Amino acid sequence: MPFQKFDLPAPILRNVRALGYTAPTPIQEQAIPLIRAGNDVVGVAQTGTGKTAAFLLPVIQKLLEKPRGSTGVLVLAPTRELAQQVESCFRGLAAGTALRSALVIGGVPESPQERALRAGVDLVDATPGRLLALLRGRCSMPNLHTLILDEADQMFDLGFLPDIKRIVAMLPVKRQTMLFSATMPPDVARLSAAILTNPTNVTVGAQGTPIETVTQIVYPVPSYRKTALLEHLLEQMERPSVLIFTRTRHGARKLARTLNDKGHNVTELHSDRTAAQRTRALQGFRARIYPILVATNIAARGLDVRHITHVINFDVPAASEEYVHRIGRTGRAGDAGDSMVFMSPDESSILARVERQLKCRLARRVLPDFDYGAPPPPKHQPVGTGQGKPRRQPVGAGVGGPSRKPSRGQGRR
Ligand code: AMP
Repeated sequence: MPFQKFDLPAPILRNVRALGYTAPTPIQEQAIPLIRAGNDVVGVAQTGTGKTAAFLLPVIQKLLEKPRGSTGVLVLAPTRELAQQVESCFRGLAAGTALRSALVIGGVPESPQERALRAGVDLVDATPGRLLALLRGRCSMPNLHTLILDEADQMFDLGFLPDIKRIVAMLPVKRQTMLFSATMPPDVARLSAAILTNPTNVTVGAQGTPIETVTQIVYPVPSYRKTALLEHLLEQMERPSVLIFTRTRHGARKLARTLNDKGHNVTELHSDRTAAQRTRALQGFRARIYPILVATNIAARGLDVRHITHVINFDVPAASEEYVHRIGRTGRAGDAGDSMVFMSPDESSILARVERQLKCRLARRVLPDFDYGAPPPPKHQPVGTGQGKPRRQPVGAGVGGPSRKPSRGQGRR
């Protein structure tokens, strides 16, 4: 098997095979030997390239060679969902070994996490806010030898830089550090220069461009007909797994409720939902219990659900970076995927800006069998713009639930 050249222990090779990885991806080809050799590494790779296994495989190998009993590896991720994803990848790749990991994320009780940190586990997967809260004077990681910052550009966008600096200041200086990011804006490059030592750079694929396996179409449509167009398109999809992005939490909630009222099996993911609701929503979408997930940008980056067939931008994204991240949720690992953008007349200038940034014009499609000219409803409240009040309290298994205001930015901790 092509993974054999990395000299991975037999149980790990078995796990790689069980996960269906037949050959290393380009980032794995490049990064695994470098990490294995002990280098600090900066990895710039588009999402869906296999970067999680690229850092976890050599890290697991290292952990198996070291004495156990105290926390050796820390992975920092920007959102709970991404931390959970790294955790599940670790469990898959380290299955059958004695290695243990702990998930340290917000929205769930602190004490089991604090106990795990005190006892020491081989690998800690954390979001910065919760980890900082637990580390402050109560726990430490004196034997940590490897630090990984995943999705660094999103951590920066979410304002985690001060938290990251505080955490890094508490870690042993002698360590191996890796930073992975979908893009490399100057702020992230500065962070990398500050906390990595003579890093080797690994870049896979062009930065900031959508992946080639995704078909991209723009649907010009009056804003009050967006929901009808969505229903029209959903009717034509066979066994779809659809991720719909709205600009606002309120928009996501309202659209999910509307679709639910119309008989669709839909769930929602945004920062007005509790941690338990977010976990259930994602689990249900992953398990295909819900073929439709309506989300805000909280789900735009790094989220790895292999079977997503369609990404629908119900609102035009504000910038090309946001667009590229969103549509990277489909067309994963070489599969084909469809991206759709619903563009109302008042959003055309926003899309024009995105297209200028992408340096390409996206194809437009007008459907001959859809009634674009149907009269607007008597009291029109556009979905997805953040305007108006929800009609009623949530219903349906996947939709709604108690609200929670995040203390700081969307999807934090
Ligand atoms: P990531 O970029 O880490 O989010 O990974 C994207 C997806 O690719 C995940 O579903 C991985 O399980 C999958 N993957 C990672 N490495 C390989 C590989 N060598 N062959 C096939 N799939 C892979």
